[in-house]
Parts: sequence; C-alpha cells; structure tokens
Amino acid sequence: MKKIFFGALIALLVSCNNNETENITPENTNVEQANITAGKEAFCGSDILRKKHLAEDPAAMQRMLQIESQTANYIEQKKMGKILPDGSIEIPVIFNVLYTKAANNVSDARINSQIDVLNKAFASTHADISNIPAEFQPVNAGDTKIKFRLAGINRKSTKTSRWAPDDKMKKASTGGMDSTDPTKYLNIWVVDYMPYQSGYVLGYATFPEDAGLWNDGVVMMDDYVGEGGPDPTHNQGRVTVHEVGHYLNLRHIWGDANCGNDFVDDTPQQITKHSGVPTYPRYETCGGVSRSVMFMNYMDYSDETTLFMFTQQQNNRMQATISATGPRAGLRVL
Ligand SMILES: [Zn+2]
Repeated sequence: MKKIFFGALIALLVSCNNNETENITPENTNVEQANITAGKEAFCGSDILRKKHLAEDPAAMQRMLQIESQTANYIEQKKMGKILPDGSIEIPVIFNVLYTKAANNVSDARINSQIDVLNKAFASTHADISNIPAEFQPVNAGDTKIKFRLAGINRKSTKTSRWAPDDKMKKASTGGMDSTDPTKYLNIWVVDYMPYQSGYVLGYATFPEDAGLWNDGVVMMDDYVGEGGPDPTHNQGRVTVHEVGHYLNLRHIWGDANCGNDFVDDTPQQITKHSGVPTYPRYETCGGVSRSVMFMNYMDYSDETTLFMFTQQQNNRMQATISATGPRAGLRVL
C-alpha cells in the first residue's frame, strides 16, 4: 500500500510541514523519492508531535477531550435533526390562549403571522432592513440562524379578562393553563389585559435563569400578538420579538438604568428608553461622550414601525443561550 500511494504521501508530507518543503531541493527530493521507493517508511509529523505534546501536557489532553466531546455532541444533534441543514436551530413554539370572548381568541392566522414576524426579525429579511441607518448596518445581526416553528395552539375559555403580570395565567390551578414542557418548547401565553400601575403591560418574558421552570416563557396581551392588532403604533408583532429577545437573554438597550449597561458592545450607550418615532440621528451623552443612539433596536421602546434590528453582539448572547451547553439547549431537542 505504501508504495502504491507514495505520491499521495509526499503530498501529505508537503502539506504537513511547509518548512521542510522549502528546504527540499530538486536533488534531495530525488533522494527522498529514492528512499521511499527503497522501502523506507514515510510519515506525516502531526500526530507524532501531538502524541508527545499530549503526553507531556495534561491540560492540552483535557482540551482535546473536550473538543472531541463537543464535536461528537454537535454531530449527534445534527443527526437527530436538532440543527437544520443550514446550521440553524428551530425553536418550537406553543401558544396558550386564554380568551374571554371571540374578539380576544386570537386567530390561527394572527398566530401564524407572529411566527412569520419572528422568523423575519431573526433573519433580517423584512422590508425595514433598508431603513437601518448606514452607520449601524455593519453591526446588524443579519441572519441569526434562530428560527421559530409553530408547534401547537392550546385554547381555554375563561371569565378572567384582567391579569396581573404574576404568572397566574401559567397554571391551571390559578385559572390559567399549564405549560407544555418548557425545557423543550417556548411557551407563549396570550391574555386579554394586564393592568400595571397606572398603565398596562404589553408582554413580559422570563430570562434564562428560569429556563425550564413551570413559569418559563412569554406572556402577551392579545392585541400585540401577530400583525393586524388594534394599536396603530404597535400592531406588527414586534413586541413579541422584543419579549423573545429577553427570553434569549437580551437586556433593554439602555441597560435598565440611566446610561446603564446592556452587556453588549455594539449598541451605543444611551440615557434611557425611547418612545414614539425619534428622529435620526439622535445624540445622547453618557459619561461625557455624545453618541448617535440606536433607538431602532428591538430592545428599545420605540414604536414598532421604528423597531427593526438586533446587533451581532446581541446575537452572540442569544447564540450562547441556545448553544449545546447553554441554559436553553433544550430548545434544540425536537
Ligand atoms: Zn422589555
């Protein structure tokens, strides 16, 4: 075998050690070939050196074992369909609709439009992408490789139209609906109205520290599910995109404090949340530095017509959350 494939072995030698290749003159190449044809064994040096290295360095051995474990895990997940052929993961979504009357029994069409809005938001394929200012286009997340698939709709008639944001809608024993396995599904509960202080809560999400608990998931007021709701400034399904951002470990872009920190480097620091439709560019000063702020980020509070981007660093946080070793790895299990 060695004699038959000696040409390939020479190619392997060349690819394994470029320094050696540079030193080979036409004369000694002939010598080399003469030696091989004379029956001398030829080697690739990589594994020879590796064996020595691993024997001498237990930390490198540990790193190698960890890489092999992660690689096997990835291949296994791919084999089982937990990662789509294009490398995306697809989060299965269950809607739990608590309705008091036909008007807030959100239709299948609205729910499907919500899935569509989520997919377009996380792939940057909606029409508003062209409205991202030139200065922010380089940090736009683009295709996050996070997709959503409608896995089921559960509906329950109730007399309760007003809910506090206190998770009672998430348990049958408190008048709500139990979740479908929250370790594997993103549960979205839909309720009629959530009064809060002098206003109301459009929606709220649990963060990854609650991954897999009975109350894990998102709650939305029915008006803000999917496209075509009655609120003219918030009827494009993007409040749900914002809440799913929290579910995947994104913080508000202003860091929930005056000039706060959202743990993301490519979102300019800003003083606080925005509302309505701010005029671009808008400059705000934090720590003595004036910056053009990203009020069009999904994790701000602007009108939905103005919310249309995640950043690459935000995507890094979401990817960490759903990675095979992340707190929401279970969402990969179909
Ligand atoms: Zn929020």
